[in-house]
Amino acid sequence: MAYNITLISGDGIGPEVAEATTRVLEATGVSFHWELAYAGSDAIERSGTPLPDPVLESIRKNKVALKGPVTTPIGSGFRSVNVALRKELALYACLRPCKIYLGAPTQFKDVDIVVVRENTEDLYSGIEFERGTSEADKLIKLLAEKGAVVTEDSGFSLKVISEDGSRRIVKFAFDYARAHNRKRVTAVHKANILKFSDGLFLAVAREVAREYPDIEFGDIIVDNLCMQLARMPQQFDVLVLPNLYGDIVSDLCAGLVGGLGLAPGANIGVETAVFEPTHGSAPKYTGQNKTNPMAMMLSGVLMLRHLDETKAADRLEKAIAEVIAKGENVTYDMKPGSAQIVGTSQVADAVIEKLEASNKN
Ligand code: NAD
Repeated sequence: MAYNITLISGDGIGPEVAEATTRVLEATGVSFHWELAYAGSDAIERSGTPLPDPVLESIRKNKVALKGPVTTPIGSGFRSVNVALRKELALYACLRPCKIYLGAPTQFKDVDIVVVRENTEDLYSGIEFERGTSEADKLIKLLAEKGAVVTEDSGFSLKVISEDGSRRIVKFAFDYARAHNRKRVTAVHKANILKFSDGLFLAVAREVAREYPDIEFGDIIVDNLCMQLARMPQQFDVLVLPNLYGDIVSDLCAGLVGGLGLAPGANIGVETAVFEPTHGSAPKYTGQNKTNPMAMMLSGVLMLRHLDETKAADRLEKAIAEVIAKGENVTYDMKPGSAQIVGTSQVADAVIEKLEASNKN
C-alpha cells in the first residue's frame, strides 16, 4: 500500500532539496503517492493567493505532508505561509532534533538536543498594529488610560501566551521525553521580565512537570541558555520553549551540530503533521544544485518514524550518517573551503547507493 502524502516543494532551493528527498524516501522501499500542492510565490502565480484552500484540504485528507521551504517577504507583502499553515492546521508542536553525526562540520562532540517549540502563540499570534493607523492610536489611548505612556510613533506586535497552549506543548515535551528515553526537560523563558506571558508558561511547566516524576525538570532564562549552549551544549537534553525563543534557539542548535543543512523538523498537531527542514528557501542558491538536502532528508526520516516505518527510518538515517562520515559526497556547507564537494542531487545518489548496499547485506 502506498502512503498518500501531500508534497509542497516550496520555492527557492525547495524544489531541489524536495526532489532529492523524495528520491531517497522511495529508495527505502516504502511506497508513496505524492499529492502535489503549491504554496508561497508558486501559488500566487497559479491562483493569486499564497496559501490556497486545496493545500489545506490535501493535508487534512492525507494527514501527513512533506514540505520544502517557502519564502516570506520581509516587512511587507503577504504574511508567512508557514505561520498560517501551522495555525490553520493547529500544528502546535514543532520538533527539531539537533544531533551531531560523525564527520559533521562542528567543533562540538556528543550534542543531542531536541528542541520542542510552541508553534501557534507568542509573538507569532499575528496580532499587530501598524504605526500611525487608527487601531494603533486607539491602543495608545487605551494604554494611556491605564497609565502607560507610549509614543505616537510606535508599532505593536502582541505576545500572547495561554495556559492551555503552554500546557499542551509542555505535555508534548514530557511525553516525547518519556517515549524516547530522554532524561531531562528544560523549560526556557524570560519570566523575570515578562511576568504575565513567560511567567504563565513557566508556572504551567512547573505544574506539568509534577505529573512526570520519572523525568528531571529544570528551567532557564533564555539569554543564559544561549550562553550555556555556546559553552557546553552537552548538558541539555529536551528543551521546551515559547514560539519566538524556539525559532531562534533551534537555529542556534542547528549551528552547533553542523549548520542548517543538517537540521530537520516536524510540525505536529492532533490530526495532521507537516515535516520540513528548519532552514528557509536560501534564495541566492536557487537552481544551482548546490545546497544540502540532508535537513529535508532527515525530516523525511522523522516522517517515516511518524508513519511507524521504523526500519525504513533507521536505514535511511544510517545511510545519511554514512555519507556524512565518509565525507566524499557532501555539499559545500559540510566542508568549508574545500573544492571536493558535490551538488544536491549527487548527495541523493550517494545516499541511495548506501541504501542499496544495505539491501544486499
Ligand atoms: P535560510 O535558512 O533560507 O538561509 C540562510 C543561509 O543558510 C543561506 O544563505 C545558506 O548559506 C544557509 N543554508 C540554508 N539552507 C541550507 C542548506 N540546505 N544547505 C546549505 N546551506 C543552507 O534563511 P533566510 O535567508 O533568513 O531566509 C530565506 C527565506 O526563507 C525567507 O523568506 C524566510 O522567511 C524563509 N524561511 C522559510 C522557512 C520555512 O519555509 N519553513 C524557514 C525559515 C525561513
